[in-house]
Amino acid sequence: MVEVDNQNNMNDKKSKPPKLYLILKIIGTILILAGIALIIVSLAIKGEGIEATRMGYRFGGICGIIFGGFLLYAGFLPLIQKNMIKTQKHIIETNKSDLKDIASDAGDIASQSTKKIATAVKEGLEDKKYCKYCGEAIDSDSIFCPYCGKQQ
Ligand SMILES: [Zn+2]
Repeated sequence: MVEVDNQNNMNDKKSKPPKLYLILKIIGTILILAGIALIIVSLAIKGEGIEATRMGYRFGGICGIIFGGFLLYAGFLPLIQKNMIKTQKHIIETNKSDLKDIASDAGDIASQSTKKIATAVKEGLEDKKYCKYCGEAIDSDSIFCPYCGKQQ
C-alpha cells in the first residue's frame, strides 16, 4: 500500500511543473512591469539638472525588462519544451512513411554489412585460404581445390 501511494505521489509531481516556474513567471512579470514604469517615470519627470536621474531610470527600466524577459522565458520553459515535443511528434507522425523507408534502407545496409562481417569471421575461424586459380575459399590443409580440382 505504501509503495503504491509513493508511486502516485511521484506521478502527481511529474504531471505538474515545480512551483519554481510559477515564481519565475511572477518575478519576471513584476520586473517587466517595473521596467516599463521606470521608463514612463523617466519620460514624465520634468526639471533642470535631472538628466542623470532620467538616464538612470531608463537604464534601470531597460535592464528590468530584459532580465524580466529572461525570467519569464525560464518560467515558460516547461510549456515551451512540451510544445517542442508535440511539434516533433507531429513531424514524425506526418512523415512516418518516409521515416519507415529510411529505417528499412538503413536496416538493409546494416544487414548486408553484418552478413559480410559474419562470413569473414566464419572463414577466419574455419582457417580458410583461397584457391590460387578460382578464388574460392578452401580449407587451408587441402591439397586439391574442391571447386576447380587444381593442385595448391
Ligand atoms: Zn580452385
